[in-house]
Amino acid sequence: MIKNRIYSPGPVDVSPVTALEMARPIIHHRTKQFEAVIAEVLEGLKTVFQTKGDVILFASSGTGAMESAIVNTCSPGDKVLCIRGGKFGERWSNITKAYGGAPVNLDVPWGKAVDPRAVEEALAKDPSIRAVCVQASETSTGAAHPVKDLGAVVRRREKTILIVDAITAVGVMDIRTDEWGLDVVVGGSQKAFRLPPGIAFASVSEKAWKHAAEAKMPRFYFDWAREKKNLAKNTTAWTPAVSLIIGLRQVLAEMRAEGMDAVFARSSSYARAVREGMRALGLVLFAGDNPSDSITAVCAPEGMNADDIVKHLAKKYGITVAGGQDAAKGRIFRLSHMGYLDALDMITCVAAVEMTLRDLGHKVQLGAGVKKAQEILV
Ligand SMILES: *Cc1c(COP(=O)(O)O)cnc(C)c1O
Repeated sequence: MIKNRIYSPGPVDVSPVTALEMARPIIHHRTKQFEAVIAEVLEGLKTVFQTKGDVILFASSGTGAMESAIVNTCSPGDKVLCIRGGKFGERWSNITKAYGGAPVNLDVPWGKAVDPRAVEEALAKDPSIRAVCVQASETSTGAAHPVKDLGAVVRRREKTILIVDAITAVGVMDIRTDEWGLDVVVGGSQKAFRLPPGIAFASVSEKAWKHAAEAKMPRFYFDWAREKKNLAKNTTAWTPAVSLIIGLRQVLAEMRAEGMDAVFARSSSYARAVREGMRALGLVLFAGDNPSDSITAVCAPEGMNADDIVKHLAKKYGITVAGGQDAAKGRIFRLSHMGYLDALDMITCVAAVEMTLRDLGHKVQLGAGVKKAQEILV
């Protein structure tokens, strides 16, 4: 028998309590009963996003909310500075192009963080840039970009907003939307919010609303203004993902009960335990200088294909993790610190990597990574 465990950076494991909440009989969304759910969820989201501004929710995957951020704030022809340090950074550029915008790409080597000075220079050179787009946590490489510093750079510029994809950050990492001047923060259900896939969020600052009033890119389903009007009445423009929103209410209640500082401290200690556990095995981290606390990308040992590690973990130990994409394919495997997880899941994950490396013929001292992780988590 194999017990299946999911430690991939999205979708992540969902708690049985949340799953049962979502299994209740469906209710109609145009009812007082569901309006109360929306009201509660909007309050909870503001706490997690650390904002007094609006948080809009969509029945879509995370990319839908990313698309909403571009089409609601930009016009065709607008220049958008896209920080490309991985697969998701590239997505900003692709969305911008698809809607007739003009991406200005700032390429960062995969695994590295952007230097805020490079953004400052790009904006000084071309003040007409309408938005800067970045990832708080670049899931494809395991790197964290310095969004606080970017907020300090962009907030000084009246005509430019900062759009942050925080799909693997907001909910597990300390993202101070208002304090840091993050104009749009995008979140998603199946990662940091430990729900199944299907809902996504975008917070919108006053400055971003001003952009929205002028923005001419076509939009319909993802029109923020229409959603804002509806959310003010605790309802949504279109049929919402009722069951997922009921699950979200449960997750937000759990976050409130635990306390956000404790939530952040927990993912940070999980990340540290796994990073140090991997290093104790002699493995190299793909984003070792600036790692995200929601996901760790580990380089396969010399001569080994990371995809073989991923396959073996699944086949022999029932553990789902992610491999690398595009430029990192075959080179890395990625472990999540998000979801319905506890410290012993991190130990299990490290132990399974040790056993897999041994199975595949790599010299590894069994227990060395586990010991290091235990010392951090104890
Ligand atoms: C997963 C992810 C996305 C895309 O989200 P989907 O839900 O797959 O559309 C975007 N950005 C980051 C950083 C992600 O991790």
